Amino acid sequence: MAEHCTNDRQQTFNKPKVELHVHLDGAIRLETILDVAKQRGISLPVDTVQALKALCTVSRPATLTEFLGKFDEYMHVIAGDRKAIKRIAHEFVETKAKEGVAYVEVRYSPHLLANSGVEPIPWKQTEGDITPDEVVRLVNEGLSKGEKDFKIKARSILCCMRHMPSWSMDVVELCKKYRNDGVVAIDLAGDESLNCEAYPGHQRAYEEAVKCGIHRTVHAGEVGPPSVVKEAVDVLKAERIGHGYHTVEDQTLYRRLLDDNMHFEVCPISSKLTGACDPDFTKHPLVRFKKDKAKYSLNTDDPLIFDSTLDKDYETVKKYMGFTEDDFKTMNINAAHASFLPEKEKKDLLNLLYEAYNMVESTGL
Ligand SMILES: [Zn+2]
Repeated sequence: MAEHCTNDRQQTFNKPKVELHVHLDGAIRLETILDVAKQRGISLPVDTVQALKALCTVSRPATLTEFLGKFDEYMHVIAGDRKAIKRIAHEFVETKAKEGVAYVEVRYSPHLLANSGVEPIPWKQTEGDITPDEVVRLVNEGLSKGEKDFKIKARSILCCMRHMPSWSMDVVELCKKYRNDGVVAIDLAGDESLNCEAYPGHQRAYEEAVKCGIHRTVHAGEVGPPSVVKEAVDVLKAERIGHGYHTVEDQTLYRRLLDDNMHFEVCPISSKLTGACDPDFTKHPLVRFKKDKAKYSLNTDDPLIFDSTLDKDYETVKKYMGFTEDDFKTMNINAAHASFLPEKEKKDLLNLLYEAYNMVESTGL
């Protein structure tokens, strides 16, 4: 599984890292998809890792439709299968441990892995008996077994989907139900052109999240305009912004978010291949974020689809944006601060980083 392992050579930043924005269903191993398809008797158009990779990945900037089409190639293999759901969560933790991640928040839509209690049933599956609730339990089991086996910390974020506002109240209820079992926040993902005014289901779910103290992040300003970011912050009360690149086009909003120490979950390779940003990395909004000392983290988003690793994102910003070892340290400390861990665990994570970065004496950042 060389494409998921970077420990066979020196990593660009060979110290413990924090990753806050990565989709479980966009981080499945190609080998696992082939293996599960075989076990379940599901026929795929290809039967080798190389051919499946060609089918599931984008290698040049794509449209949203092309990008979303990639999930159609394999999600029906994993969704609706108990063993497969638990397995992808467990393997995910192993992959992250090998990438040198000390703490990860992984996100997914429970509905998109279910085959019962979800309307419509996704990926053209026939109805079964795995509900979104059971999906969350299975992922929790896989993650927590992974934590024990691979000695890192993994928490999860449950995603609402912009085109399915009728699922969002379920999502916040699942966040509440499993908040003591590894679920730390709610997210809103999908097509940003579908705003919340037209889809009030999301707003209701986020209001419930605020009321119950569930943490909140929102995909906004990735391909969408700054107004989507504004809505995420003002209406949905987002504490972090997924991507947020286009925030810089509204100077008033951008300044306000800088003042508020808003955290941007930046995903460089993803932002190039989804066409969210100029493919010339030297013109990436992260250059501006860095210059303005914004708060941000570095993340893979959907490493399966981008055929990438966390190290490739680090390598990219080092090569094209001049990131140094010290920048990486500061960035990961900021990521730990922005994590959705309870205060005590956040402090432990910060201490782990300070120690690994030889910053034990200088905690006054
Ligand atoms: Zn994302």
